[in-house]
Amino acid sequence: MQSLFDFTREELAETLVSHGQNKFAAKQIFDWIYKKNQLDINEWSNVSKKVKEFILQNYSLELPEVVWQGESVDGTRKFLLKLKDGETIETVVIPAKNRLTQCISSQVGCAIGCTFCHTGTQGLTRHLTAGEVTGQFLKITIWLKENVHPEERLTNIVYMGQGEPLHNYENVKKATINFLDDFGFGLGQRRITLSTSGLVPKIKMLHDFPPINIAISLHSAKNSTRTQLMPINKAYDLKRLFEAIKSIPLKAHRRITYEYLLIRDLNDQDSDIEALCELLNRKESKVNLIPFNEYPGSEYKQPTQKRIQYFMEELNRRGYTCTVRQTKGDDILAACGQLKSEYEKVNLWD
Ligand code: SF4
Repeated sequence: MQSLFDFTREELAETLVSHGQNKFAAKQIFDWIYKKNQLDINEWSNVSKKVKEFILQNYSLELPEVVWQGESVDGTRKFLLKLKDGETIETVVIPAKNRLTQCISSQVGCAIGCTFCHTGTQGLTRHLTAGEVTGQFLKITIWLKENVHPEERLTNIVYMGQGEPLHNYENVKKATINFLDDFGFGLGQRRITLSTSGLVPKIKMLHDFPPINIAISLHSAKNSTRTQLMPINKAYDLKRLFEAIKSIPLKAHRRITYEYLLIRDLNDQDSDIEALCELLNRKESKVNLIPFNEYPGSEYKQPTQKRIQYFMEELNRRGYTCTVRQTKGDDILAACGQLKSEYEKVNLWD
């Protein structure tokens, strides 16, 4: 049975009309699900019996199941979610000042194969459906209300979990429409960030995507180093990537964020700073340094704190907006894809 969460509101209205139902019920249904988080269809008091029967007969309101969750000493919560077919994905909730951000997955595994990434070692199993992407956020919204506090609210979304979101373009686009929809979750455009490894043909399609923040996983401004870290750079090197980036429609005063994983002796040298400055436009770029989060078996190391600080200050001194993102949840297997691997290896949480 198809998931009701696969639909955008517009699609649901069209489906209702094509089955002889009232299209306005789509708004009411969205309100019950995404605003009131009420999944018991019997409670949908303003929805007609006829529409409810149609929904019950044709669509599922099943959400992924939380099979494990852990809270880090820094407040980060990590969840392992089981999908309908038994596959598992990870999602992480990160508190910061007045924000509560969910980092969501877009695929089971990933085809991109970045050499620093645990998920990259797993290969791609499948894309998530639009309903599974939307359902991840809905599930955690409900879980937090029930298990933390009735007023606990997720405020931001980053597509930085498992998978390359632009590889699953259509489903991620539909879920994003639901996250932004005033009758859906109603998040602001600036509260959602999509991070891509640099899938050039899909970056060129972003003019047709809801206008959210875009982050590019750069990790090196040198082709040879970037190819070593991200095999996608062989197909879409820096020249092609930056030509595509120029086509991204940017609203006034908005900038592209460049994610830069800092790895000891690999991309943390003075020549790497020089290469970055040659490549990036000061006014249109923000650099987010992420010290590499070592995991068991990883071949890379984190630079010293002194080197991380130097790298940031040197970019700031040259007029770039550059910050360091501290790694979160180290004590709960926070590396992307690590939790899923441990679960599959030993069924840790059975
Ligand atoms: S870093 Fe992202 S794009 Fe690269 S392999 Fe991991 S999940 Fe895929």
